[in-house]
Amino acid sequence: MKQSKASLMKRTCRVYLNDLNHGKKQVLKQFLLKCHEVMQYYVDLFWSRQDFSGKLADLPTVHRSKNRFGITTRLGQALAKQAKEILRSQHKKPKSQQRKPQLRQFTCTLFYHFVKIEKYKNSHFDWAICLIGSGAPKLVIPIHSTKLINRRLEQGWHLSKTIRMGLRGGQLWIDLIFEKSRPKLKSDGRFLGMDSNYKNGLVFSDAQNVGTELYPKIQGFAKRQKNTKAEIKSMLGKAIKQIDFSQVKVLVIENLKKVKHGKRGTFSRVFNRRLSHWLYAYAVSLLSRRCEELGIEVQRKDPYKTSQFCRICGKWDRRNRRGDRFLCVNCGHVDHADHNASKNLEFLGLAGVYGLRSLSSSRLCSKKQSFP
Ligand SMILES: [Zn+2]
Repeated sequence: MKQSKASLMKRTCRVYLNDLNHGKKQVLKQFLLKCHEVMQYYVDLFWSRQDFSGKLADLPTVHRSKNRFGITTRLGQALAKQAKEILRSQHKKPKSQQRKPQLRQFTCTLFYHFVKIEKYKNSHFDWAICLIGSGAPKLVIPIHSTKLINRRLEQGWHLSKTIRMGLRGGQLWIDLIFEKSRPKLKSDGRFLGMDSNYKNGLVFSDAQNVGTELYPKIQGFAKRQKNTKAEIKSMLGKAIKQIDFSQVKVLVIENLKKVKHGKRGTFSRVFNRRLSHWLYAYAVSLLSRRCEELGIEVQRKDPYKTSQFCRICGKWDRRNRRGDRFLCVNCGHVDHADHNASKNLEFLGLAGVYGLRSLSSSRLCSKKQSFP
């Protein structure tokens, strides 16, 4: 049965080609450099035409790269398409931020015209990524399976016929793409709110709390930025696996775009603030994927006042929050600040509103102290 693209989940597994022999590496690097050059050419061309359509390039346009770079029509078509995708994502930005993209990354998507993936028999390698021509070099790239690849296959993911290939810091890599049909959203279960800052990990409205080990770790190596991220990523991945979602149908989190700088705690150095934003974005991407696989809807809400609002008496006051402690100056309700915020997010989910300011002031507080 053919699946529509929209109902498929996609995940990638990156494999580095460090074991590949020198000659093949050189061929692939040359190929990627060429692709990069052609793609930039098309980005410039479409930009000058202000063509942000997703349509396939017309034949005369494709032939320009054929004549200029000596590549096949099929490769020219594929690279023009990728250039268009890059331009489209640029075009989605606000007008003032739109700039002609400069391609810094050496990556290329290869469709089934260019590549075949086969399982090896009687070899100490597991997979053969066969580049079969059509404009790509003809060669076989043997790779070993990884734990992640094996796990995906065991979990019923299908290997796509398309791959991505790239070059970064002198290292060649291939992304294998796995696909699986997206499960239906759960109809039974509860709303779960989540608040996070990197000090207390991820705090949930049902009192689950994971990732508390991150903060001491981050403080330990704030100065060595390079290895920090890889290590934090793996810790965060483990933390998110611990969350029990069995009773949950909707996860309610803050809308990342609305997260203000001051909100994530006070940071003495720019680095910490940036790290904290990155950390939150990464946590959200992991959570979103996990939820997608479990059929849990993720709702993003306005974080406005969620840390200062008292859900018991329905009033907010900036004095309610002091560091990790929430103490309502109106009714005396005491809670952990992050737990209180996660409860408020859960409340927004249940109420079906985007933010506290969209609730009518009469419902939440007296006329004297209304929401601005
Ligand atoms: Zn209160």
